[in-house]
Amino acid sequence: MQKSEVAMLLTFVHSLQGGETTELEVAGWFDVLGRYEYADAKAAVRAHVDQSQQRITAAHVLHQIKTARRALTGSTMSPRRIDCAREGRAHAWIGDTCRLCEVRRWELEGTA
Ligand SMILES: [Zn+2]
Repeated sequence: MQKSEVAMLLTFVHSLQGGETTELEVAGWFDVLGRYEYADAKAAVRAHVDQSQQRITAAHVLHQIKTARRALTGSTMSPRRIDCAREGRAHAWIGDTCRLCEVRRWELEGTA
């Protein structure tokens, strides 16, 4: 999403929990969430609010986006094969997916 969409997302967040959007905050959230779609990030905010009373952070949004993606691929793909790393093999990347164990690169990035 664009920085302007991150600002919109933060306006939504602040409408739920109070606070003012600052440029510093937009920059930080953009750094963490910029590569995701606005719609996915907004859905992630809703999911967090549904499940937790904690003040939402960019890390919460990131976690919710990853959880939603995992649930989606889990239901549309054949059962996961054994992770290469657990077998002591290197992943064989085709784009962002390992052709051997079908793990996605984004699943390995900072798994919370
Ligand atoms: Zn693999």
